[in-house]
Amino acid sequence: MTRATTRFISAILLVALALPLAAAPRLELQGRLAQGSVVFGRTAPGASVYFADREVRVSPQGVFVIGFGRDAADSERLVVEGPDGERIERRLEIAPRDYDIQRIDGVPPETVSPPEEAMERIREEVELVREARTRDDPRTDFLDDFIWPVTGRITGVYGSQRVYNGEPRRPHYGIDIAASAGTPVRAPAGGIVTVAHEDMYFSGGTLLLDHGHGLSSAFLHLRSLAVDVGDRVERGDTIGTVGSGGRSTGAHLDWRINWFQRRLDPRQLVDAMPDGGG
Ligand SMILES: [Zn+2]
Repeated sequence: MTRATTRFISAILLVALALPLAAAPRLELQGRLAQGSVVFGRTAPGASVYFADREVRVSPQGVFVIGFGRDAADSERLVVEGPDGERIERRLEIAPRDYDIQRIDGVPPETVSPPEEAMERIREEVELVREARTRDDPRTDFLDDFIWPVTGRITGVYGSQRVYNGEPRRPHYGIDIAASAGTPVRAPAGGIVTVAHEDMYFSGGTLLLDHGHGLSSAFLHLRSLAVDVGDRVERGDTIGTVGSGGRSTGAHLDWRINWFQRRLDPRQLVDAMPDGGG
């Protein structure tokens, strides 16, 4: 056989092998379908994914990320369109979670409303964070196995909420880890720093780290920052130190995870807190 013929036959074989794939884009989901969960998906390279009123970024390898908020409804629609127009529509059943709700009755609620003169500043800080969380980078740093940014006793969990005299307060969205002031905070996975603020009203020293595809970490109440906006960090790099800045009662790290504006539970991305850490 001539080389040209060989090449021709190889081409036919490749087309034949590709045909079964083209019939339906595959769809694999990894992660719990539950409130507060982050779910990693895999589909055919070149497929389009639609979820939560947006087209979700798909990597050249077919990897994508979605997330469910704390109070996600019991189901949500996911649509995958293959490179050749084939379509999968899946209704994802989302398991509800029990959150730690503390009901406190018969006591006057602590007044925590910020003073009028702080409102403008708070609005600006909220907008800075919101804007950073619109970022949709093609990087796939989220494929790192996440590590705890700090180890220590867990003093606050995702989703918990206080209800004063029947009036629900804002839920807690992070995981609080007690550690002494000055303890290094490490990047749980690689990423790009998108917010580095020395002193926000509520959260003091605050960092946001973008892990790609809309998945980001936030680190609150930091005493010092070791990185600046635009810096590239790798998993395990020191990004700052634990503190008690902003409205905080003691030194701890509040670590949060977002998929765009949706707040997710960081706990599911890491193994159990190592011994000696709790
Ligand atoms: Zn907290």
